[in-house]
Amino acid sequence: MPAEIALAENALTAAQNHSAEISGALAREEALRTRLEREIDGHRQKVARFRSQVDSVKTPAQAQAIEHEIHFEAAEADRLENEELASLERSEAYEPQFAGARAQVESLAADADTVRARLAERQKDLAAELATLDDAREAARETIESDWLARFDRLVSSRGTAIVRVDNQQCPGCRMGLRPQIWNELREGRLLSCDSCSRLIYWDPAMSPVPKAPQPELIPGQGRAPRKPRQAGA
Ligand SMILES: [Zn+2]
Repeated sequence: MPAEIALAENALTAAQNHSAEISGALAREEALRTRLEREIDGHRQKVARFRSQVDSVKTPAQAQAIEHEIHFEAAEADRLENEELASLERSEAYEPQFAGARAQVESLAADADTVRARLAERQKDLAAELATLDDAREAARETIESDWLARFDRLVSSRGTAIVRVDNQQCPGCRMGLRPQIWNELREGRLLSCDSCSRLIYWDPAMSPVPKAPQPELIPGQGRAPRKPRQAGA
């Protein structure tokens, strides 16, 4: 779920960045046209001013100089107007891209919301499941003798795991091999302690692979002496 959230949020961020890039390009074109219009106005005003001076010229040279200025300023105004037109065309090309990018942002934002809502729902389910398990755990603890519980709790805080299922004559908690005597007692259904790490160890016949060839003392009916009950971990 967190990976799914990250994926949805990354896609949304990428779409937002893309949309912001286009929006920035549109703003730059707009600013360019504002500047061009100011410059075009300046050139047009100069043309008007020179035209008003045409009637008051005294010599053909003066007339020619003014005509030259008028021509230059008008040409500049035209050139800048063409630039402005090109900028407008670029903006028009950006507009549909911008609309598409905005639509994508909205769609991906909705997707991210859906994923977040699903995650919240899942967290609620997990919290309920956890509460149920906590209740079951408390109920189970009440059925266990207090010294066993204390020992279990000490092991949890020091080792992380207090009780482990033994497989292949080895403690899964610390990877140490078990003494044959311990192994035999486990297989009789005893709950014991690992000599090495003190974790509580047990053997589950239903979960274990077919045992290796039994040692002679394990063969039933061979007159093995009954054992005295043994305190786990003692
Ligand atoms: Zn161990």
